[in-house]
Amino acid sequence: MTRPSMFVSKRLEDYTVRLVPPLHPLHRAGEHSHMPTKKTARKLDQPNPLWSERLLYFEARQEQIVQTIREFVEIESPSDNKLAADRMGAFLAGSFEAVDGHARVHHADDYADSLEINFSGRENIKPVLLLGHFDTVYPLGTLTTMPCHVADGRMHGPGVLDMKSGIALMLYAIAALQAWHGSLPRPVTVFLVSDEEVGSYSSRKITEALARESAAVLVLEPAGPRGAVKTARKGVGDYTLNVKGVAAHAGLDPGKGHSAILELARQITAVSKLNDLQRGLSVNPGVIRGGTRTNVIAAEATVEIDVRIAHAKQAATLDRKLRALKPFDKHCKLSIEGGINRMPMERNAGVAALYKKAQAIAKHMDWKLEEAAVGGGSDGNFTAGIGIPTLDGLGGVGQGAHAVHEHIVISELPRRALLLAGMIEAV
Ligand SMILES: [Zn+2]
Repeated sequence: MTRPSMFVSKRLEDYTVRLVPPLHPLHRAGEHSHMPTKKTARKLDQPNPLWSERLLYFEARQEQIVQTIREFVEIESPSDNKLAADRMGAFLAGSFEAVDGHARVHHADDYADSLEINFSGRENIKPVLLLGHFDTVYPLGTLTTMPCHVADGRMHGPGVLDMKSGIALMLYAIAALQAWHGSLPRPVTVFLVSDEEVGSYSSRKITEALARESAAVLVLEPAGPRGAVKTARKGVGDYTLNVKGVAAHAGLDPGKGHSAILELARQITAVSKLNDLQRGLSVNPGVIRGGTRTNVIAAEATVEIDVRIAHAKQAATLDRKLRALKPFDKHCKLSIEGGINRMPMERNAGVAALYKKAQAIAKHMDWKLEEAAVGGGSDGNFTAGIGIPTLDGLGGVGQGAHAVHEHIVISELPRRALLLAGMIEAV
């Protein structure tokens, strides 16, 4: 964190050497893959190029980046299909090994194996952790109704924004740094998990362990509004409230039953009163189930509740209040399961310092990089939650994550790649 950027503005006048000819061959002869390679390595003693030259480097490769993203999107990788998602993991391992990474697989039984790729660096310092996920929310076969295609400068497809474009940015930023410096200026760890969209249960411990060894964590989840990076995310939790009532015939014995549905309805009202939107705390009873037939007083009913918190200290209070719910009807019994899965990513000093560095890099490109606080969680919540400086939302710019219109804006790719490359140097 304290190592000064080698690209402070004072030295800008030194950056006079053209980085690579814009039409330099972009991949190894005879290869049909669109992976970048490090063939363009330069000697270390040469001065670094101007930022505009570096931007040109990525602009010259924009089409190649798009092709790589297409390759990623066209391998479907739903969180709940190990076989399919493992294919994606294997393809990614090959892609990162093509730029001299050492891939290591973390086996998971219920999900695809997560993928760690290590890159050594010139300086023997703590690595930067580039964090992402290759699972998507789309079931196998989605490509037939939602094919990967480009229209009006946008690339559409399942997972293109969340977050296969982010993975491609990692690949190209690493290749660029190798080309510019001859080798990576510092060690980099890439960790791509297979189960982020379903709670990261198989990968969380590894994410946290890798983060503890790292100087900072850069998360390649989609950008926020207007391309903003994400400096705060809410914590996320799930609870299930079960009500057990007493069944009875609705016609013959209406007085003998104690309706779990009626009790549930009253509990939902009580739970909803826990909302405190001004303090960033929200509680949403999102799914209800209960009863068997209209002529039976319901014996069971259930509500699934999504909770969001802006501050870590809200977790315990909310949890206590939910567990303290008492039945209105004494003949009904309540039980509650669940908890907070991801603690909030709060905008602490470490996060703010990373954002400041990102802003400085963006400024070299005449780009006023904004920051955003969002309600959705990511694995960045885990790493920020254990106190490792984390900057999120460094990935693709677009709209429609998890929806049929999911897309990225292609022209944003070069400067996002450069921002990431600059951050790997600057952290
Ligand atoms: Zn995501």
